[in-house]
Amino acid sequence: MPEAAALFKEWSGYLKPEDLTQLESAYNFSKAAHAGQYRKSGEPYISHPLAVADILAQWHMDPQALTAALLHDVTEDTEVTKNEISRNFGKPVAELVDGVSKLDKIEFETHEKAQAENFRKMLLAMARDVRVILIKLADRLHNMRTLDAVEPLKRRRIARETLEIYAPIANRLGLNSIYQELEDLSFKHLYPDRYRVLAKAVKAARGNRREVVSKVMDAVKRKLKDNNVEALVHGREKHLYSIYRKMREKHLSFAQVTDVFAFRIIVKDVQSCYLALGALHGLYKPIPGKFKDYIAIAKANGYQSLHTTLFGPFGSPIEIQVRTHEMHKIAEAGVASHWLYRSSDASLSELQQKTHQWLQSLIEMQSESGDSVEFLEHLKVDLFPDEVYVFTPRGQIMALPRGATAVDFAYAVHTDIGNRCVAVKINQELMPLRSEIKNGDRVEIITAAHAKPNPLWLNFVVTAKARSHIRHFVKTMHFEESVQLGERLLNQALASFKSTLADIREQHWNRLLKESSAKSRQHLLSDIGLGKRLAAVIARQLLSLGSPLPHESGVPGTVVIRGSEGMAVQFAKCCKPIPGDPIIGMISKGQGMVIHTHDCPVMAKTRPDPDRLLDVQWDQETRKAFEVSIKLVVANQRGVLAKVAAEISGAGSNIQNVSVDPEDGGTYTGMHFTLQVSNRLHLAHIMRALRSIPEVIRISRVKTG
Ligand code: MN
Repeated sequence: MPEAAALFKEWSGYLKPEDLTQLESAYNFSKAAHAGQYRKSGEPYISHPLAVADILAQWHMDPQALTAALLHDVTEDTEVTKNEISRNFGKPVAELVDGVSKLDKIEFETHEKAQAENFRKMLLAMARDVRVILIKLADRLHNMRTLDAVEPLKRRRIARETLEIYAPIANRLGLNSIYQELEDLSFKHLYPDRYRVLAKAVKAARGNRREVVSKVMDAVKRKLKDNNVEALVHGREKHLYSIYRKMREKHLSFAQVTDVFAFRIIVKDVQSCYLALGALHGLYKPIPGKFKDYIAIAKANGYQSLHTTLFGPFGSPIEIQVRTHEMHKIAEAGVASHWLYRSSDASLSELQQKTHQWLQSLIEMQSESGDSVEFLEHLKVDLFPDEVYVFTPRGQIMALPRGATAVDFAYAVHTDIGNRCVAVKINQELMPLRSEIKNGDRVEIITAAHAKPNPLWLNFVVTAKARSHIRHFVKTMHFEESVQLGERLLNQALASFKSTLADIREQHWNRLLKESSAKSRQHLLSDIGLGKRLAAVIARQLLSLGSPLPHESGVPGTVVIRGSEGMAVQFAKCCKPIPGDPIIGMISKGQGMVIHTHDCPVMAKTRPDPDRLLDVQWDQETRKAFEVSIKLVVANQRGVLAKVAAEISGAGSNIQNVSVDPEDGGTYTGMHFTLQVSNRLHLAHIMRALRSIPEVIRISRVKTG
């Protein structure tokens, strides 16, 4: 590893003096932070960030990226905070360092192929700034180059991760030479024996075929010259891992892999590419079906070249690539790909298009405008703007649309999980179910056996799956609940004729259904529950079918309210009845039964049809929390609201809502609370506690909404 000073001198070739000053100070900062730390190789730790920065400098990356590279491990391994970096080196550098650290924190756990793809997408989506990925790739490259010092088990893990995650990312981004180096280094550490044998075989073959190669090379050069095509001709050896991959995929021995050597012809423009191709096809016959025109139709990652395979003079096929200088730059060092953008151009945001352009012309821009503002703007990207990637508790990765909540996640895992979810842990912390999930989150849904979907979830879920399941459930539940209520209402109505549902004969039901054109008995009961039909009328009809109609006793039964009836029974928002209050049921069309207090002024005003009013009473045991409103008049003193709130929660109640009358500078202020109580006794207990506060002047329950 060269000394820092020597590297700075090298970098000064494309950086400005003031940039170098910042880099020197970042180097000193990092060196101080990592003081006393050593790498497995025994070198001082600072040698690693310096080497990473140097890799980025080879790509002519901007000074911010290099500064971040020098600092990329300090927040992880030392006491230094993001704020400190921001103060010393600016916010953009701090963001880059933070981005790299975040990538370091998520671990790839499973070994499934499909999961690797998602993990790569997650990394890219988390990075947000392409430079973060490039720093990470440089970091990984240096770690791979120095992997010998690491203990075998960890070495294999890192090599496998590099092969499955980082090499493909480099490939997708078109960083070809890094891609190949990462693959070969991974191969070497993952399968040391196979690597050694294959490397030896390639070396031997290189010697054996040297003469052949140079003869073909001379012939090609001469032919191109005769055709007036100016060209550079290179002999090229495929990288080891690609040979190994081919042997494995096609079940070949090394001797059977004939295209270990290939030629690359670089010319000045596109026209010359085709001229060169024509000349070569005149020299040796092309093998049918092997010609590919990646100039006319570029590869997904922007790669362009002509590929052809010729019958060589000594019986072995010769693979040839023809491309221009520009195409060569892009093919070697990077252009990322169109694969990032799955959809048509129309849906690309302006930002994406900019990124797209930047990725297309990575090399040119690096050399032309290393520090322009415009260049930096292009780096701020959101590679997967529509999707977030999160972990399940088992380390699986799921993709969800941006804005998805914990409930969406639950339904994405499984319908049952969605239907029974009650809480969520995001990164080990309990969070509300409505929480939006973010890239890289680890999401764990907590379920309960008897839990049901909540219709309120419809207000925040974003996926069609969650929405349709909740809707379906609500509809079914509503139906079932209204059937149950209808049954109870009908029973009550029958009771006033000294009859019950059990007394009604099947044939009478069937006749009634025919006459009333209801779809089924369930539907008829549901209609009663929803107030679309009146129980008293249906009761009379049913009984009149089995003549003679018994005499009405005039003493109707009462319906017992448990509070757990669900959507079919609602508690009026005006008077907010609680257990212990005298109550009355009002059937309203389409809504089912609404419970009011006897003295509700709002209900009195509506003067309901007596047929729609029902005698109801509370069950002995109601297990639900009921809402109730109270109003306080208090002396206008500091801290009184806190005192009141403390008493309320001390009495075992939740405050659902609170509002305070606007201050008019007077002595007294009004406060309005909506509380949760279990019954009247509970409320009385709370009110007594509140009266004990000296500042509380008056206190009353509100029944007018
Ligand atoms: Mn590192």
